[in-house]
Order: sequence, then structure tokens, then C-alpha cells
Amino acid sequence: MPFRLLLPDEKLASIHDLDFEALGMRGIEGIIFDLDNTLGVWGFTRMEEETLHYLHDAQRQGFRLGFLSNDHGVGREAVQQSLADHPMIFNAQKPKRSGYRAILENFELLPHQTAMVGDQLFTDIFGAKRLGMYAIMVDPVAPDVEDRSVRFRRFFERQILRFKK
Ligand SMILES: [Mg+2]
Repeated sequence: MPFRLLLPDEKLASIHDLDFEALGMRGIEGIIFDLDNTLGVWGFTRMEEETLHYLHDAQRQGFRLGFLSNDHGVGREAVQQSLADHPMIFNAQKPKRSGYRAILENFELLPHQTAMVGDQLFTDIFGAKRLGMYAIMVDPVAPDVEDRSVRFRRFFERQILRFKK
């Protein structure tokens, strides 16, 4: 299959469509989330209550949770505080592997025991697939609130996603 490392294993409308039970059956014990346009609108500075409930629910079901963002994290102290019990890395430079690896080490899990959830193919998904992680792509929370370089990349994402059955 062409673009094997660029194709997500699952493509969902939102994080709320994740099937925790099915992930558990696959042997997945840890989930790494992208922040912007995955857990909230681009650049969000506070966690929505609903999203926090969702994450607590995932944790109650036994998953380790981590957060990996390419944003610099300035002004996002409230987000970090809301999720202080979990590893959160800013400036991750996805698709570089170092950030993913740091979280895997924290989880004490191997790549195939971990899922990455994100809205971008060339960063979130590619980085995860390079390491052999299970990759879940979600639609952006608010696609119209993105910077121009991201919107430009969306065009190429669409061309590649046509290969996904
Ligand atoms: Mg994102």
C-alpha cells in the first residue's frame, strides 16, 4: 500500500468516537493525544469540562494518558494544571520521534501498546506510524480556526487519505 506510514489505522469524526474497549482488545494501554484541534479548538487555553470528563473516563478504564503538542505552550498553564497527573510535552516537533519516546518511557509501554490520537497526518499520524504505534486521526474540532500553513497542508492530506479504504 502506498504511503503506508502516512495512513492512520482509524479515521474518526472526534475523540468521542474512540472505542476504548476495542483499543483494550488490541493490547493498547496508553493513549497520547494531540492538543490543538484534537482536544479543543486551535490554541485553547482552558480544558472544557466535557473533555476533562472524557479523559477521566479513559483513565478510569485503565489507560495511561499523555499529551504531545507542537505548540510552544505559552499561556497554556491552565491546560497543564488540569492535566497535571499526566506527561505533557510542548515543542514536540512531531513527527520527530523524541517526544513520543519520552511519553512511552513515562508510560513504561512499547509503541505497539500505545495509540496516538491527532488531527494532522504529517505530524501526529506520521510520527506515530514511524514508531509502530496505532494511529487514530480525528477531524479537526474547528477547521476554520487554523493558521495558513496548516490549511495548506490539508489539501495534501486529502490526496493521501484517498488511499485509505
Ligand atoms: Mg492538532
